[in-house]
Amino acid sequence: MAKDYYATLGVRRDASQEEIKKAYRRLARELHPDVNPDPATQERFKEITAAYEVLSDPQKRQMHDMGGDPFGGAGGAGAGFGAGFPFSDIMDAFFGTASASRGPRSRARRGRNATIRVELDLAESGFGTTRELVVDTAILCEVCQGSGAAAGTHPDTCDMCHGRGEVSQVTRSFLGQVMTSRPCPQCGGFGSVIRHPCQECSGDGRVRTRRTIKVRIPAGVEDGTHIQLAGEGEVGPGGGPPGDLFLEIVERPHPTFERRGDDLHCTVSIPMTAAALGTSLTMETLDGAEQIDVRPGTQSGQVIPLYARGVQRLNESGRGDLLIHVNVETPLKLDPEQEELLRKLSQLRGEERPPGKFAPGQQGFFSRLKDAFNGR
Ligand SMILES: [Zn+2]
Ligand SMILES: [Zn+2]
Repeated sequence: MAKDYYATLGVRRDASQEEIKKAYRRLARELHPDVNPDPATQERFKEITAAYEVLSDPQKRQMHDMGGDPFGGAGGAGAGFGAGFPFSDIMDAFFGTASASRGPRSRARRGRNATIRVELDLAESGFGTTRELVVDTAILCEVCQGSGAAAGTHPDTCDMCHGRGEVSQVTRSFLGQVMTSRPCPQCGGFGSVIRHPCQECSGDGRVRTRRTIKVRIPAGVEDGTHIQLAGEGEVGPGGGPPGDLFLEIVERPHPTFERRGDDLHCTVSIPMTAAALGTSLTMETLDGAEQIDVRPGTQSGQVIPLYARGVQRLNESGRGDLLIHVNVETPLKLDPEQEELLRKLSQLRGEERPPGKFAPGQQGFFSRLKDAFNGR
């Protein structure tokens, strides 16, 4: 007396593939060896797994319905039959993921990721902004809800592979009979055929559209930063889950400030006299107009820092600094009166024939060189 696999899984003889899968999943959860390791339960787990292997495969199910034993391939012809239940099918039953080589593949596939470039000016990237972006994308077809079949119709089970998605062929070789499988050429491996495609999406399950999305761009992003918006990409073929949308930040150069990390740099040129006497100047920063004090005796190349006037740190508190590099301008042309004044100044300062002085950096270099000669 052959086993009744329908009874084993507790389903009716006319149960659909979905019902069989559900029943197996429910039983496998409570009987799985990882959950319940006692020997009797393990035996029962093997039974329901064998039942699922047969009933989930249309060919084996048919054999079982006609009173045959799909595992009784004593002739040795049916390679793979009864060789145990492939782990991938257990995974499939648990997680609904179709394995690559067995069973029909799902029409639904994950959608592609998309990348769009977002141009920001310095204040926007430095302090964050909200943008409305127009995205050309694919969304779920409302008419067929992704199935690809016209309203009121369903994909038909493929009559070439009987819904398996693959066709098997037994060939003779020097090893004996070998069974090979390949994707079904009629249904492309889906196990079903859409005879009446949805008019709206031509059977793709999705339609192209232009969508406006509002995105919050965090403070502190910079040129080349990628922001991932999970699930905002294209819906996949067959109504599959959407991919991700990536925003690539492109920062427009600022006319005054150069950004290095969170710090901003700029250069101001001041006349020689202002550098010597000190001055104050007004500068337009990202925070509005600021008064900058240039102390008397400021040297060319000196840096005036404005702390926390740079850009916001990304995902952190605090801001970078604004660093003002001073460039002291020597007058290019002097009129006679100015020249006379400067000559007088140089006399007063005893600088008519200034001794050639080393800059501090060079002195340091020479003293280090001397130390090296002295062995210190
Ligand atoms: Zn459609
Ligand atoms: Zn087929």
